[in-house]
Amino acid sequence: ETSAHELLHFANAFAGLPAPFHTRQLPTPLPAPYLVDASQSAAQMIGLEPAAFESADLIQTLSGNRIAAGSQPLAAVYSGHQFGVWAGQLGDGRAILLGDVAAANGGRMELQLKGAGATPYSRMGDGRAVLRSSIREYLCSEAMAALGIPTSRALAIVGSDQLAMRERPETTAVVTRMAPSFVRFGSFEHWYYNNQHDALKTLADYVIAGFYPELQAADNPYQALLADVTRRTAHLMAQWQAVGFMHGVMNTDNMSILGLTLDYGPFGFMEAYDPSHICNHTDQQGRYAYNKQPQIGHWNCFALGQALLPLIGSVEATEAALSGYQAQYGAKLDELLHAKLGLATQQADDDKLLDAMFALMQASHVDFTLFFRRLGALRLDDAGADAPLRDLFLDRAAFDAWALQYRARLKLENSRDDSRKLGMDSCNPKYVLRNYLAQTAIEQAQNKDFSEVRKLLEILENPFDEQPQHAKYAELPPDWARGLEVSCSS
Ligand code: AMP
Ligand code: MG
Ligand code: MG
Repeated sequence: ETSAHELLHFANAFAGLPAPFHTRQLPTPLPAPYLVDASQSAAQMIGLEPAAFESADLIQTLSGNRIAAGSQPLAAVYSGHQFGVWAGQLGDGRAILLGDVAAANGGRMELQLKGAGATPYSRMGDGRAVLRSSIREYLCSEAMAALGIPTSRALAIVGSDQLAMRERPETTAVVTRMAPSFVRFGSFEHWYYNNQHDALKTLADYVIAGFYPELQAADNPYQALLADVTRRTAHLMAQWQAVGFMHGVMNTDNMSILGLTLDYGPFGFMEAYDPSHICNHTDQQGRYAYNKQPQIGHWNCFALGQALLPLIGSVEATEAALSGYQAQYGAKLDELLHAKLGLATQQADDDKLLDAMFALMQASHVDFTLFFRRLGALRLDDAGADAPLRDLFLDRAAFDAWALQYRARLKLENSRDDSRKLGMDSCNPKYVLRNYLAQTAIEQAQNKDFSEVRKLLEILENPFDEQPQHAKYAELPPDWARGLEVSCSS
């Protein structure tokens, strides 16, 4: 029997910050926990072998029932703008940081138990997370990582028969999240809006020293930090758009200072293409609709810039750090869309080709993921190969007209069918975490059958592979899934 402290050697960098940054907080024990699933690729990042999850002590540790030697559990304070409105103090209301461990890449990874009980920042919440939302966070974190998109990771889920009240009673779970840091834009806003500029500086220096050490040499390291976070956020937004990912709750307290996708709630992947699609049932105004995400990313960077202003020193220098966003976003999106279309060069009229494509997709409610995947199978001199792609469109003649332009554009750069398909298949996933797939795995898990969670994770770990034996996981959602709604309830 291996004990958790032999598997995880904790240090506590964040706990080393002065007292106002956090509250020491032990997790609330989770009754009779059982392992639901563990991500081997996440485990590998911190040097855990698959056999580690046979350790009862590790499971107890990941449930919050035992504290591994060396770990100094805490909840961090932060504030934020929620739906565009200043919300004041929030903080880790149900997440408890255990500390940081060595990562295989030479860095450190913080381990955080999400759903591990109430903290001083829980406000009206119960400190718990339900199995449903825990499975969604777990699967999507790992799916995004496999898609090559920066994200917090999910090491494991442990479940319990303990109930929490949501729209109805649901069983609870704890997800172990991993990231080099969970500091958010809202962590900086907290000190700015409380007029505590010393603490603001302490936090900025901590983030720069730990995660942006190269910026220490800059003339104005705080401006350089803002510029770097702005660039990372712009690139992240382009990556989300290119894969059809919708976050759902892009509040500043859910924006990672490392440019990671953070805090998976009512997220979704675009299916029938509708640029104004709102994945979060609670977001009636559509503030976080798919096509709003890039500008909201920018807005959030401005909120961070406002908070960093006292350190940066001038409005001009702050604006200069933010000014790259649109061009950085645009260039990254252009690069990603060209790759998605298998275009090796950029040509003057490419925007028109792309606009026409998106307009056709919208008119026919074409499935986002299927469209790009099937586009890769198009052949320059064999219109017959288009049939599965063409079938996605209601207006076949309009598709044919577009395909003619697309072929001409490909021929312009002497594109070759086989190599183009290889490139397109390596950036247009066949498998994404469709809501109905998550829902099916959740319902089985709620009946104590965790095999579908495991199977889905394995499929999503190789999203670009054909995996013909799993082809049905790439299909359009079934009719029953049409009414599926996701809300903030988690
Ligand atoms: P979110 O919308 O998930 O980013 O959460 C916003 C704030 O609410 C954060 O401070 C969370 O810690 C807190 N929160 C969400 N759910 C709960 C819960 N069940 N118990 C305590 N705090 C919660
Ligand atoms: Mg959050
Ligand atoms: Mg959340």
